[in-house]
Amino acid sequence: MDNLPLYKCFLGTIINPVNDRHCNIVRKGGLVLKRGKNSDYKVSFIGKAQEALKLVQRREDHVIHDYGQKILMPGFFDMHFHWVQDDVRLMPKDNLLTWLSKYTWPYESKFKSKKFSKNKAKQFSRELLQVGTLGGAVYASIHPHSVSDALESFVGNYTIGNVLMTMNSPDYLTMSEKKSLSSVEELSSKYKSSYCLTPRFAPTTSPYVMSEGRKISKKYNSFVQTHLSETKNEIEYVLSLYKNIKSFEKVDSYLDIYDKCGLLSSKTIMGHAIHLTPKEWKRMSTSKTNIAHCPTSNAPLKEKGLGSGLFDFKKADRMGVNWALASDIGGGPFLSMFDVMRSFVDQNKRKKVTGATWIRALYRSTLAGAKMLTLSKEYGNLDVGKFGNFLILPEVKFKKGESKNDFLKRAFHRPLKRREEYSNFVLETWYKGKKVYSKLI
Ligand SMILES: [Zn+2]
Repeated sequence: MDNLPLYKCFLGTIINPVNDRHCNIVRKGGLVLKRGKNSDYKVSFIGKAQEALKLVQRREDHVIHDYGQKILMPGFFDMHFHWVQDDVRLMPKDNLLTWLSKYTWPYESKFKSKKFSKNKAKQFSRELLQVGTLGGAVYASIHPHSVSDALESFVGNYTIGNVLMTMNSPDYLTMSEKKSLSSVEELSSKYKSSYCLTPRFAPTTSPYVMSEGRKISKKYNSFVQTHLSETKNEIEYVLSLYKNIKSFEKVDSYLDIYDKCGLLSSKTIMGHAIHLTPKEWKRMSTSKTNIAHCPTSNAPLKEKGLGSGLFDFKKADRMGVNWALASDIGGGPFLSMFDVMRSFVDQNKRKKVTGATWIRALYRSTLAGAKMLTLSKEYGNLDVGKFGNFLILPEVKFKKGESKNDFLKRAFHRPLKRREEYSNFVLETWYKGKKVYSKLI
């Protein structure tokens, strides 16, 4: 059919996340990919280099990529980011609601131009590959073409939605309820689970649009995402608004509003969820609703975050609420999930919360996200049978007696002052066994 080899064999140090507590690290490892349908490659072997070589050298049709002591690890899933906020991520963030109205919303209105949106999508697509992100849940602007442009440009597995804004929003970003719902019908019927119903958050999306939008998107098995309890200010604002909305007068919490609109489900991803009441935690758990935790966005102002507080991941685990890590560009300042993992580990350590290990951070940036998107059978790590989606990172030598967590720390960690380096950290990105980014080009 073409001259692609049947087998590709990659040699290096292989990092393969398993769960919160385990991660396989294969020194002098070998990863064998086999060409399949559509010339996509899947993992047919992961283990020692010697065995991998034995396997492929029996066949004529193979190539070997020897990376020495460089690292191979799965690509990232970033479970909450706004692809249309790339240029406001470093604007002053004294207050969430002010940052939104002063910088973010005016900027998002530029995506009204189809040309602007298409060009930005192409540029952003390259930025994602450069930091090694190959999937996730994404917010676009209100404009339906900002969803199509992203889905057509991004390499990987994404669910993307246009933010629905029908009230309490500036004129230039307000859509009629009718137009909002017809965009949901059009996009969810076209993109199915690659479409994500995206009420921006309760203040800007009428309950009618949330509940009707959910009914429409459910037919097509689309995902749902929105923001929940990011700051205390915001919670007060939301509750004071809804007190005056018919049949919502008695809602007792932020989550209750979404619940009443039928938004909670195992296909729903709530961004942030920092300040939840015990009752809200319980409801998150019984409805199997997921959380996208965005540590760099929630970090203190001096770390370029919004200072929203620290997510209680232990509580989520105790309550059986599934969560994964996310960059929240532009609330978060950097797109790299390495920076997100670093922030998760560092912030918890500073607050003396134990258990925020690099092993956990890695799992929550890869396989946990794939699971949330119900893609873990073929994505999320480098187990046999999954697509060959991985990154190549600089060489790290082993130290005798070192724990896996300490090895990951040395391999991934950049001090707070050198965070920018993360955007140029990945050497190569491979998707389905094909090189889609190389730092050298
Ligand atoms: Zn967000």
